[in-house]
Amino acid sequence: MYCRNCGAQIDDKAEICPKCGVRNKASPTGEKNPGIAAIASFFFTGLGQIYNGEIGKGIMFMIIGGVFLLLMFVLIGFILYPLFWIYNIYDAYRTAERINLSG
Ligand SMILES: [Zn+2]
Repeated sequence: MYCRNCGAQIDDKAEICPKCGVRNKASPTGEKNPGIAAIASFFFTGLGQIYNGEIGKGIMFMIIGGVFLLLMFVLIGFILYPLFWIYNIYDAYRTAERINLSG
């Protein structure tokens, strides 16, 4: 294969071109920014998961988040929702990291 930056012929398995130092290997899923994933989930439960490409999980998180939000009327949601919200941010961050490492 050839470097997409300088055009030098490089090894197929080379991630970084030895000539110009530019990264060539793109992960099949694409790079995910853990910060963006966490911020997305910060503003809306499940959004970071969808950003990470986990659509089903994201929708599930939105539903769970909505249920816990409704449970605030019976007070238990005040405990469940913040816990789930923190887990949702953590999960989005870690999943994005994992995608980058496996790519
Ligand atoms: Zn190069």
